[in-house]
Amino acid sequence: MGWIAIRRDHGGIVFVDLRDLEGLTQIVFDPQINSDAHRLATDLRSEFCIGIRGKVRSRPDGMMNSNLLTGEIEVEATHLEIFNTSPTPPFPIEDGITTNEMVRLEHRYLDLRRPEAKKPILIRAKLTHFIRKFLEDRNFYEIETPFLTKSTPEGARDYLVPSRLYPGQAYALPQSPQLFKQLLMMAGFERYFQIARCFRDEDLRADRQPDFTQLDLEMSFITQDRLFALMEELWAYLWKEILGVQIATPFVRMKYADVVEQYGSDKPDLRLDWKLTTVTDIFAQSGFKVFKDCVDQKGLIQTLKVPGGAELSRKELDELTPFAKNYGAKGIAWIKINKIEDLNEGWQSPISKFLTDAEKKALQDRTQLKTGDLLVFCADKKKVVADSLGNIRLELGKKMKATKTDEWKFLWVIDFPLFQWDEEGKRWVSEHHPFTSPKAEFVDTFFSDPGKTISDSYDLVLNGMEMGSGSIRIHNPDLQSKVFELLKLSAEEAREKFGFLLDALSYGAPPHGGVAFGVDRIAMVLSKGESLREVIAFPKTQRGQCPLTKAPSMIDAEQWKDLHLKLSPQV
Ligand code: ASP
Repeated sequence: MGWIAIRRDHGGIVFVDLRDLEGLTQIVFDPQINSDAHRLATDLRSEFCIGIRGKVRSRPDGMMNSNLLTGEIEVEATHLEIFNTSPTPPFPIEDGITTNEMVRLEHRYLDLRRPEAKKPILIRAKLTHFIRKFLEDRNFYEIETPFLTKSTPEGARDYLVPSRLYPGQAYALPQSPQLFKQLLMMAGFERYFQIARCFRDEDLRADRQPDFTQLDLEMSFITQDRLFALMEELWAYLWKEILGVQIATPFVRMKYADVVEQYGSDKPDLRLDWKLTTVTDIFAQSGFKVFKDCVDQKGLIQTLKVPGGAELSRKELDELTPFAKNYGAKGIAWIKINKIEDLNEGWQSPISKFLTDAEKKALQDRTQLKTGDLLVFCADKKKVVADSLGNIRLELGKKMKATKTDEWKFLWVIDFPLFQWDEEGKRWVSEHHPFTSPKAEFVDTFFSDPGKTISDSYDLVLNGMEMGSGSIRIHNPDLQSKVFELLKLSAEEAREKFGFLLDALSYGAPPHGGVAFGVDRIAMVLSKGESLREVIAFPKTQRGQCPLTKAPSMIDAEQWKDLHLKLSPQV
């Protein structure tokens, strides 16, 4: 049984390549063998769904096809049944096509008949299978949590489902199962997991889906060290089972402050070993006004050393400034080290004349500079410098082919700040979510010095992608209330929104913690794909629409009425 991939007529004999989930097989309809089947076969067209019966035989000498897994055999058909016909499909059902993605998504059921489109979906099925196997063998229980629920703050906007039975009220779709998984710990399940759908109404950035899937985990009586060890074992198991690759454990761990300083990003791609160096102090008395002004305004000056970067052209270097402007930088300076010992001619740069020999020597010492290297500078506010040089690092790494594309570089980023200052709202907000615990040594001081408080939270980064994050949670109701207070939630609001959590915490809640990984992203990485849409059977576009079903779509007047809602006249 299968679909017609190709049909050929050769001197009265019909050949068909029959496609099914496993691959292609050649079928031969010979009037000498069965004239009825042969007659019917002359009507076959691409994508007809058929069943045949027949005999498997070796292909005659010289007719073998070594490019095909079944290239040594063919099936001599004695019966043919046409289950269904098909019009000519809107694009060829084969690998390597260049058809526009929108057209393919509109006919996703046809797109997925193509082996290369099917493969990532099958890898994803394998992934979830092995996740379940690993976790169930280690006493985790898979427990579902509700979709129609109350808001769970993960920093995005909620999708709301207005209630028909309760006018003016709405459910929220979960941004994550965060609070439910914590409640499961309070209910004594000890080890929970779920392959959970999450919903976040975000402004759609590149490669995000409004509904996506997390591997969500929570454990009681767990420490960060034990959680890391168990999760590393899980990742190594998945890589071994699915890719046959041995990955090195334990994973590298770095503090948030250090990764940002050294790589200009909290999800650095460690396949590239270039680092940023802070050089603000070297230019404290600089004759170069841009640097001096930056020092006076308590800004940051950093440099990225690009080994071998002196070979880049003037044009390539000039392009760095407009590139960095996207990240808020006013400008980028650079020095090509053509001859390290010649501090004048050998240090080629538009700013060379403003730098003293002592400054150059200091740069050389601090960055371990060599002939052939390039230094790229940014002087600005901390975030602008990090974003600009962090992205220049990635860009030049790609351009100079210095990023090792065949490596798996896992990294735990630890010790995130607990809070971030929100300039617009003039208040502190959670860096992770409000249920994350401060590290033990900050429990007594976080309220008076929120900016300095380090949390017990962590991210897992792989090759520059954030694969997931988690934390040890607050299990003390008073501490949780204090955090709400710091976040400027009044006691009444805290009760109204999170009363159930505060109550549950008061009944002997166990210490607990967990993590959630992006399943779509893991599947994408494992299938070496370029977009999340490839690993989702029915994905949405970057604008959050489903080209197949045409969701979202208008709803009729009756439905608005049922929900006690009115469409505003502007729409
Ligand atoms: N719920 C968190 C998130 O979605 C993950 C966690 O803290 O376990 O990022």
